[in-house]
Amino acid sequence: MISLNEVFVEYDNGVRALKDLSLTVEKGEFAFVVGSTGSGKSTLLRLLYREMSPCQGTVIVNGEDVVDMKPSDVPFLRRRLGIVFQDFKLLPQKNLWENLAFALRVIGAQPKDIRRRIGDALALVGLTHRCDAFPNQMSGGEQQRAAIARALVNNPTLLIADEPTGNLDPDTSWEIMQLLDQINIRGATVLVATHDSQIVDRMKKRVIQLDAGHLIRDEHKGAYQHIES
Ligand code: ADP
Ligand code: MG
Repeated sequence: MISLNEVFVEYDNGVRALKDLSLTVEKGEFAFVVGSTGSGKSTLLRLLYREMSPCQGTVIVNGEDVVDMKPSDVPFLRRRLGIVFQDFKLLPQKNLWENLAFALRVIGAQPKDIRRRIGDALALVGLTHRCDAFPNQMSGGEQQRAAIARALVNNPTLLIADEPTGNLDPDTSWEIMQLLDQINIRGATVLVATHDSQIVDRMKKRVIQLDAGHLIRDEHKGAYQHIES
Protein backbone atom coordinates (compact mmCIF):
# COMPACT_ATOMS: atom_id res chain seq x y z
CA MET A 1 0.00 0.00 0.00
CA ILE A 2 2.76 2.42 1.03
CA SER A 3 6.44 1.92 0.44
CA LEU A 4 9.20 4.44 0.99
CA ASN A 5 12.76 3.57 0.12
CA GLU A 6 15.80 5.60 1.20
CA VAL A 7 13.86 8.84 1.14
CA PHE A 8 15.52 12.19 1.76
CA VAL A 9 13.55 15.44 1.89
CA GLU A 10 15.06 18.89 1.97
CA TYR A 11 13.01 22.10 2.02
CA ASP A 12 14.03 25.13 -0.03
CA ASN A 13 15.45 26.78 3.09
CA GLY A 14 17.92 23.91 3.49
CA VAL A 15 16.08 22.13 6.33
CA ARG A 16 16.55 18.39 5.92
CA ALA A 17 13.20 17.08 7.09
CA LEU A 18 13.57 13.34 6.32
CA LYS A 19 16.81 11.42 6.23
CA ASP A 20 17.21 7.98 4.69
CA LEU A 21 13.69 6.90 5.54
CA SER A 22 12.57 3.44 4.47
CA LEU A 23 9.18 2.14 5.50
CA THR A 24 6.38 -0.15 4.36
CA VAL A 25 2.72 -0.07 5.39
CA GLU A 26 0.58 -2.98 4.21
CA LYS A 27 -2.97 -2.78 2.97
CA GLY A 28 -5.40 -2.81 5.89
CA GLU A 29 -2.92 -1.67 8.55
CA PHE A 30 -3.50 1.04 11.14
CA ALA A 31 -0.30 2.87 12.05
CA PHE A 32 0.63 5.93 14.08
CA VAL A 33 3.48 8.23 13.13
CA VAL A 34 4.80 9.81 16.33
CA GLY A 35 7.61 12.16 17.25
CA SER A 36 8.09 15.64 18.64
CA THR A 37 7.22 18.81 16.72
CA GLY A 38 9.53 19.20 13.77
CA SER A 39 10.49 15.51 13.63
CA GLY A 40 9.09 15.17 10.08
CA LYS A 41 5.62 13.63 10.55
CA SER A 42 3.73 16.07 8.33
CA THR A 43 6.49 15.94 5.73
CA LEU A 44 6.15 12.16 5.56
CA LEU A 45 2.38 12.44 5.02
CA ARG A 46 2.80 15.19 2.41
CA LEU A 47 4.93 12.82 0.33
CA LEU A 48 2.08 10.33 0.21
CA TYR A 49 -0.47 12.71 -1.31
CA ARG A 50 2.22 14.33 -3.47
CA GLU A 51 2.06 17.69 -1.80
CA MET A 52 5.83 17.48 -2.13
CA SER A 53 8.51 15.23 -3.56
CA PRO A 54 11.71 13.87 -2.04
CA CYS A 55 15.10 14.99 -3.31
CA GLN A 56 16.14 11.35 -3.27
CA GLY A 57 14.41 7.97 -2.89
CA THR A 58 11.18 6.34 -3.99
CA VAL A 59 7.63 6.71 -2.70
CA ILE A 60 5.02 4.15 -3.76
CA VAL A 61 1.34 4.63 -2.87
CA ASN A 62 -1.33 2.18 -4.02
CA GLY A 63 1.24 0.51 -6.23
CA GLU A 64 2.11 3.75 -8.01
CA ASP A 65 5.36 5.67 -7.99
CA VAL A 66 4.16 9.08 -6.84
CA VAL A 67 7.55 10.76 -7.32
CA ASP A 68 7.60 10.23 -11.07
CA MET A 69 3.87 10.79 -11.39
CA LYS A 70 2.80 13.37 -13.97
CA PRO A 71 1.18 16.42 -12.35
CA SER A 72 -1.97 15.66 -14.35
CA ASP A 73 -2.23 12.28 -12.59
CA VAL A 74 -2.02 13.73 -9.06
CA PRO A 75 -5.80 14.41 -8.80
CA PHE A 76 -6.45 10.74 -9.59
CA LEU A 77 -4.06 9.71 -6.81
CA ARG A 78 -5.83 12.00 -4.34
CA ARG A 79 -9.26 10.67 -5.26
CA ARG A 80 -8.26 7.36 -3.81
CA LEU A 81 -7.00 8.95 -0.60
CA GLY A 82 -8.85 10.52 2.29
CA ILE A 83 -6.95 13.31 4.03
CA VAL A 84 -7.84 14.81 7.41
CA PHE A 85 -6.13 17.75 9.13
CA GLN A 86 -5.93 19.19 12.63
CA ASP A 87 -7.89 22.32 11.64
CA PHE A 88 -10.66 20.44 9.74
CA LYS A 89 -10.47 22.70 6.64
CA LEU A 90 -14.24 22.78 6.10
CA LEU A 91 -15.63 25.47 3.83
CA PRO A 92 -17.16 28.02 6.25
CA GLN A 93 -19.84 29.31 3.83
CA LYS A 94 -21.26 25.87 3.14
CA ASN A 95 -23.30 23.63 5.40
CA LEU A 96 -22.21 20.09 6.16
CA TRP A 97 -24.12 18.51 3.28
CA GLU A 98 -22.75 21.09 0.83
CA ASN A 99 -19.20 20.60 2.09
CA LEU A 100 -19.43 16.92 1.20
CA ALA A 101 -21.32 17.52 -2.05
CA PHE A 102 -18.68 20.01 -3.15
CA ALA A 103 -15.94 17.41 -2.69
CA LEU A 104 -17.89 14.98 -4.86
CA ARG A 105 -18.87 17.46 -7.57
CA VAL A 106 -15.20 18.37 -7.98
CA ILE A 107 -14.57 14.81 -9.13
CA GLY A 108 -17.62 14.73 -11.38
CA ALA A 109 -19.86 12.38 -9.39
CA GLN A 110 -23.49 11.99 -10.52
CA PRO A 111 -26.26 13.58 -8.37
CA LYS A 112 -27.79 10.21 -7.44
CA ASP A 113 -24.36 8.93 -6.40
CA ILE A 114 -23.70 12.12 -4.46
CA ARG A 115 -26.84 11.67 -2.34
CA ARG A 116 -26.09 8.05 -1.57
CA ARG A 117 -22.42 8.57 -0.76
CA ILE A 118 -23.09 11.56 1.48
CA GLY A 119 -25.87 9.67 3.25
CA ASP A 120 -23.54 6.72 3.89
CA ALA A 121 -20.63 8.88 5.08
CA LEU A 122 -22.78 10.97 7.44
CA ALA A 123 -24.36 7.86 8.92
CA LEU A 124 -20.94 6.34 9.53
CA VAL A 125 -19.66 9.37 11.44
CA GLY A 126 -23.00 9.86 13.26
CA LEU A 127 -23.85 13.28 11.79
CA THR A 128 -26.95 12.58 9.70
CA HIS A 129 -28.99 14.92 11.90
CA ARG A 130 -26.48 17.75 11.44
CA CYS A 131 -26.46 17.89 7.64
CA ASP A 132 -27.84 21.47 7.60
CA ALA A 133 -25.33 22.83 10.13
CA PHE A 134 -22.59 25.24 9.12
CA PRO A 135 -19.06 24.65 10.45
CA ASN A 136 -19.31 27.50 12.97
CA GLN A 137 -22.47 25.88 14.40
CA MET A 138 -20.65 22.62 15.10
CA SER A 139 -18.42 21.62 18.01
CA GLY A 140 -14.78 20.76 17.33
CA GLY A 141 -15.58 17.06 17.53
CA GLU A 142 -18.46 17.45 15.08
CA GLN A 143 -16.27 19.41 12.70
CA GLN A 144 -13.64 16.69 12.75
CA ARG A 145 -16.34 14.05 12.15
CA ALA A 146 -17.52 16.18 9.24
CA ALA A 147 -13.98 16.35 7.84
CA ILE A 148 -13.68 12.58 8.19
CA ALA A 149 -17.02 12.14 6.39
CA ARG A 150 -15.70 14.34 3.60
CA ALA A 151 -12.56 12.20 3.42
CA LEU A 152 -14.74 9.07 3.18
CA VAL A 153 -17.12 10.04 0.40
CA ASN A 154 -14.66 8.77 -2.23
CA ASN A 155 -14.41 5.44 -0.43
CA PRO A 156 -10.62 5.82 -0.08
CA THR A 157 -8.28 2.88 0.22
CA LEU A 158 -5.94 4.97 2.38
CA LEU A 159 -6.93 7.49 5.04
CA ILE A 160 -4.20 9.92 6.10
CA ALA A 161 -4.76 12.05 9.20
CA ASP A 162 -2.32 14.73 10.35
CA GLU A 163 -2.83 15.50 14.06
CA PRO A 164 -6.59 14.88 13.77
CA THR A 165 -7.13 15.35 17.52
CA GLY A 166 -4.77 18.31 17.96
CA ASN A 167 -7.63 20.74 18.63
CA LEU A 168 -9.89 18.40 20.62
CA ASP A 169 -10.33 17.54 24.30
CA PRO A 170 -9.33 14.03 25.47
CA ASP A 171 -12.82 12.48 25.39
CA THR A 172 -13.60 13.85 21.94
CA SER A 173 -10.14 12.79 20.75
CA TRP A 174 -10.86 9.26 21.88
CA GLU A 175 -14.18 9.22 20.00
CA ILE A 176 -12.46 10.40 16.84
CA MET A 177 -9.83 7.68 17.22
CA GLN A 178 -12.55 5.06 17.66
CA LEU A 179 -14.10 6.31 14.46
CA LEU A 180 -10.78 6.00 12.60
CA ASP A 181 -10.48 2.48 14.02
CA GLN A 182 -13.95 1.64 12.63
CA ILE A 183 -12.93 2.95 9.24
CA ASN A 184 -9.85 0.72 9.39
CA ILE A 185 -11.95 -2.30 10.36
CA ARG A 186 -14.14 -1.61 7.32
CA GLY A 187 -11.06 -2.04 5.14
CA ALA A 188 -9.19 1.26 4.72
CA THR A 189 -5.53 1.53 5.55
CA VAL A 190 -5.15 4.30 8.16
CA LEU A 191 -2.07 6.37 8.91
CA VAL A 192 -2.27 8.93 11.73
CA ALA A 193 0.41 11.44 12.68
CA THR A 194 0.04 12.54 16.28
CA HIS A 195 1.87 13.54 19.38
CA ASP A 196 -1.03 12.55 21.62
CA SER A 197 0.75 9.95 23.73
CA GLN A 198 -2.36 8.90 25.72
CA ILE A 199 -4.23 7.93 22.59
CA VAL A 200 -1.30 6.05 21.12
CA ASP A 201 -0.83 4.13 24.37
CA ARG A 202 -4.52 3.18 24.55
CA MET A 203 -4.88 2.12 20.92
CA LYS A 204 -1.98 -0.39 20.91
CA LYS A 205 -1.39 -0.08 17.18
CA ARG A 206 1.75 0.02 15.12
CA VAL A 207 3.96 2.97 16.11
CA ILE A 208 6.42 4.52 13.67
CA GLN A 209 8.59 7.05 15.49
CA LEU A 210 10.57 9.83 13.86
CA ASP A 211 13.26 11.92 15.45
CA ALA A 212 14.82 14.79 13.53
CA GLY A 213 13.84 13.16 10.24
CA HIS A 214 15.17 9.71 11.12
CA LEU A 215 13.08 6.60 11.67
CA ILE A 216 14.08 5.57 15.18
CA ARG A 217 11.43 2.95 16.01
CA ASP A 218 8.83 0.84 14.26
CA GLU A 219 6.90 -1.32 16.68
CA HIS A 220 3.71 -3.33 16.35
CA LYS A 221 1.17 -2.86 19.17
CA GLY A 222 3.44 -0.14 20.45
CA ALA A 223 3.20 2.63 23.01
CA TYR A 224 4.09 6.27 22.46
CA GLN A 225 7.24 5.95 24.51
CA HIS A 226 9.43 2.95 24.12
CA ILE A 227 9.87 1.17 27.44
CA GLU A 228 13.10 -0.76 27.83
CA SER A 229 12.41 -4.19 29.27
P1 ADP B 1 6.19 17.59 12.31
O1 ADP B 1 4.95 17.41 11.50
O2 ADP B 1 6.69 16.32 12.93
O3 ADP B 1 6.06 18.67 13.33
P2 ADP B 1 7.32 18.70 9.88
O4 ADP B 1 7.31 17.63 8.86
O5 ADP B 1 6.26 19.74 9.82
O6 ADP B 1 7.37 18.02 11.33
O7 ADP B 1 8.71 19.46 9.84
C1 ADP B 1 9.95 18.80 9.73
C2 ADP B 1 11.04 19.84 9.59
O8 ADP B 1 10.88 20.51 8.36
C3 ADP B 1 11.02 20.92 10.66
O9 ADP B 1 12.35 21.28 10.92
C4 ADP B 1 10.27 22.04 10.01
O10 ADP B 1 10.66 23.29 10.54
C5 ADP B 1 10.69 21.90 8.56
N1 ADP B 1 9.63 22.36 7.65
C6 ADP B 1 8.35 21.90 7.59
N2 ADP B 1 7.66 22.49 6.63
C7 ADP B 1 8.51 23.36 6.03
C8 ADP B 1 8.39 24.27 4.92
N3 ADP B 1 7.25 24.42 4.24
N4 ADP B 1 9.49 25.00 4.59
C9 ADP B 1 10.65 24.86 5.27
N5 ADP B 1 10.82 24.01 6.29
C10 ADP B 1 9.78 23.26 6.69
MG1 MG C 1 3.06 18.24 11.69
